[in-house]
Amino acid sequence: MYAEIADKIIAGETPTREDAFAFAKSSDDELLEVLDAAYRVRRHFHGKTVKIHVLQNAKSGVCPEDCSFCSQSMKYNTNVEQYGMQTVDELVKGARMAAASGAVTYCMVTSTRGPSSREIATVCEAVKQIKSEFPTMGICSSLGLLKPGQAEKLADAGVDRYNHNIESSKRHFETIVSTHKWEDRVNTVKSAKEAGMSACCGGILGMGETIEDWVELAFALRDIGVESVPVNFLDPRPGTPLDEKPRLTPHEALRALSVFRIVNPESDVRVAGGREVTLKHMQPLALYAANSIFTNGYLTTPGADASDDYRMITDAGFEPAVVNAT
Ligand code: SF4
Repeated sequence: MYAEIADKIIAGETPTREDAFAFAKSSDDELLEVLDAAYRVRRHFHGKTVKIHVLQNAKSGVCPEDCSFCSQSMKYNTNVEQYGMQTVDELVKGARMAAASGAVTYCMVTSTRGPSSREIATVCEAVKQIKSEFPTMGICSSLGLLKPGQAEKLADAGVDRYNHNIESSKRHFETIVSTHKWEDRVNTVKSAKEAGMSACCGGILGMGETIEDWVELAFALRDIGVESVPVNFLDPRPGTPLDEKPRLTPHEALRALSVFRIVNPESDVRVAGGREVTLKHMQPLALYAANSIFTNGYLTTPGADASDDYRMITDAGFEPAVVNAT
């Protein structure tokens, strides 16, 4: 059944919610069948390459919003490092380190409700310098909710992609965030696309949602038309309201990646935060559904280093992307 759904998608048919739900509710014993189907779709649209992205926490731990999963919210006592917006020099230095790690995309992220004009100007200047030094590196910025005109400024400066995750289904989002609405996030992603940037938008799984929420999130991303889907697995952060949630099992996480792969066949699917601690020894199997990873850790948590990730990719028979791709 899973292979038939994959072949249908490869033939150009639109996946249905029933298709996605079948993947989401598959049993542990069916994992290899599910991954094989996801891999058919992955191989058809993305070959065997793996796009490596590197994150830069450009403003840490000072966000006024109350996202229940987030260690960077000032509403919670989480002990993350706190600092204001990094300088242009610091952002450029981060890009040099990303290039040394073989990243095809460098993503500057701030903990904020949305950027000030000064922060937009800092990112724009950094992007100009990074582009002159690394013309083929993709640049992504993730600066929160955008006000009118801000997306255009970023696009004009050379930002290729804007990240803003919608995090979960609309239904579930409203149970974990009260300071802004799911629609606010959707509107920011749409404004980034309208300004000419591609959209990186995904979510976090393991926050107490149902598998129906996975399917709703996957289709919401498809409806928006996002080019890049980061799939994070909650790594519960001490001090946050979700700090006692159990992690997903490796099987659940791999099933979830397969759902996002078949619903968004042409988009990059990136296995993102929580990869190492959730998938553990099953990490290489994620590459059968996902075609992108982060390396060198996440915003407030460590992860595998680039040399380990390169070994994992090549040992599993995949190829790190070296193209001018975002
Ligand atoms: S808006 Fe972003 S940085 Fe702020 S609390 Fe929510 S997820 Fe964290």
